[in-house]
Amino acid sequence: MPTDAMSADEFRRYGKQLIDWIADYWQGLEDVTIQPDIEPGEIRAMLPAAAPEAPEPFDAVIADLDAVVARGLVHWQSPHWFAYFPANASFPAILAELVSAGLGQQGMLWSTSPVTTEIESHVLDWLVDLLGLPAHWKTTGPGGGVIQMSASDASHIALVVARHRAAAGNARPHDMVAYTSSQAHSSIEKGARVAGYGHIRPINVDAQFGMLPDALAAAIDGDLSAGLTPAFVGSTIGTTGTTAIDPIRAIGEVAQSNGLWHHVDAAFAGTAMLCDEFRHHQDGLELVDSYNFNPHKWMLTNFDCSVLYVADRRPLIEVLEILPPYLKNRASQVADVIDYRDWHIPLGRRFRALKLWWVLRTYGASGLRALIREHVRLARWLDRQLMDDDRFEVVAPTPFSLVSFRHVSGDSTTQSLASEINREGPAYVTASSIDGMHFIRVSIGQTNTREAHVQRLWQTLDRLAPPV
Ligand code: PLP
Repeated sequence: MPTDAMSADEFRRYGKQLIDWIADYWQGLEDVTIQPDIEPGEIRAMLPAAAPEAPEPFDAVIADLDAVVARGLVHWQSPHWFAYFPANASFPAILAELVSAGLGQQGMLWSTSPVTTEIESHVLDWLVDLLGLPAHWKTTGPGGGVIQMSASDASHIALVVARHRAAAGNARPHDMVAYTSSQAHSSIEKGARVAGYGHIRPINVDAQFGMLPDALAAAIDGDLSAGLTPAFVGSTIGTTGTTAIDPIRAIGEVAQSNGLWHHVDAAFAGTAMLCDEFRHHQDGLELVDSYNFNPHKWMLTNFDCSVLYVADRRPLIEVLEILPPYLKNRASQVADVIDYRDWHIPLGRRFRALKLWWVLRTYGASGLRALIREHVRLARWLDRQLMDDDRFEVVAPTPFSLVSFRHVSGDSTTQSLASEINREGPAYVTASSIDGMHFIRVSIGQTNTREAHVQRLWQTLDRLAPPV
């Protein structure tokens, strides 16, 4: 006989209890050790070998948040988080996520959830203005935005559309070439592999790790002479290694004159464009075919929320539209509605725009700008301390809020320093390398990271770094 696992009254009670648990979790983050001291398999060993046959009381389920879940958490939301890039979140976004689950919408077509579709289109149109993106990228123009799961999905789709366009000229995927800088995120190469490109060309960078447009042009010429088909170039505003910035306009001109699809990956740094003073880094976007940034990195909107814009939505829809009889509906046939299933690979889609909408409304553009400016100010302050200290060298500029530096004594001192910082805590940083040169990345962007946290990190660095 089926059981009703939870009544509406129990749902109210447990829901309130869990909101309290989450609030306590966030309030306790100031003092936690970010990376748990845990062995592989430890969590699984706490779980029963088989799924429960009999229903369990929900109190027991909640108890395991502390007994099991807490044991294996990496505390990405700690204000001492300086590793990778942030994956920041906020209370309004968390509540929106809960409501989105509560509403259980399936927004694959306009007709299956008009509100999911229209809030998404509208909020992404807002962002075009807020980020200083080309006005024709709005859904009210020829382009449009769509929320994807990740930047990797966004670039994969751009690669597929580019492949389709090149195939219209009778080229075979096997002969197609995708270009991106040697500093681009690995997802571009992965996307090109998945999309079946025969060739992926890493393009050289300058001393500040930005792609060299002349090297791109030369590579394209070489491939054309070899009978290949250049089809796609991916440039980056804010590379993962050092937040290097590719010259978008110059790359755009090379792409246009050779008929390549130009995709821009601004996964992390895109959020900075809320502030006017960073927009010169995106000069030339009007030449671009597609663009992506991740509110789930720096815009307080918990994972997953990655925005893809296309300058012209027709080639995207042409590639991804497929209409089985059971999805035919009057709105799609007679009205000019957006059916977002034609804008990404999955059919089904959640109401992810709700959290972006709530973040924008509760912080306001001014609140978000203030946070971005504060993070950048703190990064530049740290950059200055490092530059003024002869034990350290900064290995790349700090255009946003990532500081990349090393100990002048070399790779092994630098690596040991990163390990010691992480061992001591509460700060948590990433050790990285480019072409064999090791360095430390301090990425400032967690929701609650403020001056005191960065100062404390600097004090730790100052104490742990050996003299030259
Ligand atoms: N592009 C850049 C520049 C990144 O830094 C990252 C991740 O850090 C990605 C793409 C991949 O992001 P996602 O996890 O959303 O696929």
